[in-house]
Amino acid sequence: MERPRRESRPVQVGDVQIGGNAPISVQSMTVSKTHEVETCLEEIHRLADAGADVVRVAVPRPEDADALKDIVQGSRVPIVADIHFNHQYALKAIEAGIAKVRINPGNIGKPEWEREVLLAAKEKGIPIRIGVNSGSLEKDLMDKYGYPKPEALFESAMRHVEICQKNGFEDIVISVKHSDVFYMIQAYRMVAERTDYPLHLGVTESGSLATGTVKSSVGIGTLLADGIGDTIRVSLATDPVEEVKVGHRILKSLGIGRPGVNIIACPTCGRLVGDLFTIVEEVEEAVAAQNFDKDLNVALMGCAVNGPGEASGADLGVSLGRGRAHLFKRGEIVGTVDEDEIVEAVIKAIEEWDEDEEND
Ligand code: SF4
Repeated sequence: MERPRRESRPVQVGDVQIGGNAPISVQSMTVSKTHEVETCLEEIHRLADAGADVVRVAVPRPEDADALKDIVQGSRVPIVADIHFNHQYALKAIEAGIAKVRINPGNIGKPEWEREVLLAAKEKGIPIRIGVNSGSLEKDLMDKYGYPKPEALFESAMRHVEICQKNGFEDIVISVKHSDVFYMIQAYRMVAERTDYPLHLGVTESGSLATGTVKSSVGIGTLLADGIGDTIRVSLATDPVEEVKVGHRILKSLGIGRPGVNIIACPTCGRLVGDLFTIVEEVEEAVAAQNFDKDLNVALMGCAVNGPGEASGADLGVSLGRGRAHLFKRGEIVGTVDEDEIVEAVIKAIEEWDEDEEND
């Protein structure tokens, strides 16, 4: 089935295109201090290894702005500088060759400073993300709406957009993040309907790994299912590597992720005849470690009652029996393995998958 996709203008962030029908990219943000260059780069490498397409770093101090050149040079993925108000930091970031600047032009302070930053970005072909957040809305909008309602987020974003447009700057990505998932969805829908700028999706302050994963999956997933969104960032109060993993899982669950192994597992019930939880965990770990780029569905099922149906419907499948399991390939039983050999057998079958296809 054709998946819907809102039309948006393309924006180039280093070698990653956002919008304009480009694949939806996954972003994350470092937690280390940007001026501690070695530590920060080590974190950026870990995020890139986990599948981050773009990484953002915070620039709250002059020494962070000074470190950007080394960060940009040492990173293999495009770096975004997150700047709140300071136009000098923004200019330094642009000078350092950053791939994108997150800044809200209306917060810079003076029209001439806004103009200076936008002209510098334009000259270097560097896009700007206007990042509106429910926690930091302008006072007059809070007074007007009494709460960061979707209309307030939309109005704030449009103010910044207008400043950009007035200065002839259109290389814009927009986010309107809210900690309330329902409001976040409404705010993004408003921007999506009324502009063609690419959208960076996220739920702000979403919480711990478990809570934040649910909130982000619902908020980001709902919009993506409607074709809205061009790049995503899952915000979690944990190691940002988890943000990248969850981001890719959200895309995969909607069938719009990059090629990779999709693990299907039964929830288990009273018919379970083995330690399926451990098997699923170990297969997932091994798959993640090997970073397979083969587009395969692998079903891991807990019994011989309903297991064979699902296992034979996937590309590869396992259906547990007592102490043993049937291994399925393209709907056919191709072997029986002992329970303690299942993980190894599944990984070997994934590794050999291309070879198998050629032999068909
Ligand atoms: Fe229960 Fe078997 Fe279905 Fe798993 S496959 S949920 S163990 S009936």
